[in-house]
Amino acid sequence: MYQAPRGTTDILPQEQPYWRFVEQKAVSVCQLYGYERIDNPAFEDTGLFVRTVGSGTDIVEKEMYTFEDKGGDSITLRPEGTAPVCRAYLEHGLHNLPQPVKLYYLASIFRYERPQAGRYRQHHQFGYEAIGDDDPVLDAEVIDMAWQLFLSLGLKRLSLNLNSIGCKECRPGYLARLKEYYADHIGELCPDCKVRLERNPLRLLDCKNRVCQQMAESVPKSIDYLCPPCEEHFSQLKKYLGLLSLPFVVDHLLVRGLDYYTRTVFEVQPEKGGAQSTLGGGGRYDDLIEELGGKPAPAVGFAAGIERIILNLKKQGVAVPTLPGPQVFIAYLGEAAGDEAMKLASALRRADVGVIESTGGRSLKAQLRQADNLGVRHTVIIGEQELQAGMAVLRDMTTSEQKDVPFDQLPKLLR
Ligand code: AMP
Repeated sequence: MYQAPRGTTDILPQEQPYWRFVEQKAVSVCQLYGYERIDNPAFEDTGLFVRTVGSGTDIVEKEMYTFEDKGGDSITLRPEGTAPVCRAYLEHGLHNLPQPVKLYYLASIFRYERPQAGRYRQHHQFGYEAIGDDDPVLDAEVIDMAWQLFLSLGLKRLSLNLNSIGCKECRPGYLARLKEYYADHIGELCPDCKVRLERNPLRLLDCKNRVCQQMAESVPKSIDYLCPPCEEHFSQLKKYLGLLSLPFVVDHLLVRGLDYYTRTVFEVQPEKGGAQSTLGGGGRYDDLIEELGGKPAPAVGFAAGIERIILNLKKQGVAVPTLPGPQVFIAYLGEAAGDEAMKLASALRRADVGVIESTGGRSLKAQLRQADNLGVRHTVIIGEQELQAGMAVLRDMTTSEQKDVPFDQLPKLLR
């Protein structure tokens, strides 16, 4: 028997109410803040991700689903949502529109990771991007949107962590200082961090290894090395977040797994979960568009994992609305009644009344049991006698009351 590939899941009907609930809240928050939907292809040229996410990152080094297609091109299944949006922004001349351009997406994401609770090889992200402006008002807006989304989902006990990791002017100075700090402790670092120290020293700060974490406690802080414009940007942002009453904490160890971030980085986590259970994160990426060959267009964005959100909705016992289904079941006895049932089902659907028609010629008792299981409000019953009289029995499934109704009046009545 075939099984779904490791790290992937089927989203069965009983799970769908959670998915619809999250998607609907995500879409409404985007509408409230004026973000428009974009859908990108599920795969792109490999170079797009290597160039933007960064060749020294876990994603590019270990996690991409990369293959050569039959035409010999190197293709990669989307391992994150921002680079494709930026590629489309340039490709379709969105830089010619009034800036910033505000876009959101719901997309499947592919990463070859070690599957565990809340970590899959195919997962889904909701994300949004504001491209073409470096005003910290936008950073505040993007963070506020994330926070309002989680509030509207009914999630509680979340923390909002914030940091600034500087820009291409001031970051080199900080990285040099970071390397100096770690140089004295190199023997104690985990094997991954020894490599990171050369290739991607920022990532030493959020290594999950216990010894590396201890060492990170007294590490120099990026915010102490910001250039004056970055410092001003960060202090403005903090002021705006205060105005919006967002309960942020500055976390000096917060860096993100992708190379393109500049200045603002932030994450939303369940209070007790730690970094492994992060619900979503984002930040500013002021050089990415330029890196892709466009004119400078500073930008900021956010993405959240839908599976993680749903995991937390369940953990916190948040009730989600059930999805509307047909409220009418048609039961019948005998072949002639069956023909009438089919005509009636069709008439009801044309009148916009959802119907489930009985199949399989079961006893009336069995058919009523099925109607009960489906949870419909009404069952229409047609037998020999009803056929003769041109009337059906309409049964209210909650009260068990029954009445006779002429066939042609049923669509209007049930609607
Ligand atoms: P990232 O692009 O790594 O910042 O991921 C954004 C969000 O997507 C994370 O905060 C998680 O909620 C979610 N996420 C990332 N990787 C996975 C994964 N492998 N499985 C499930 N969710 C993930």
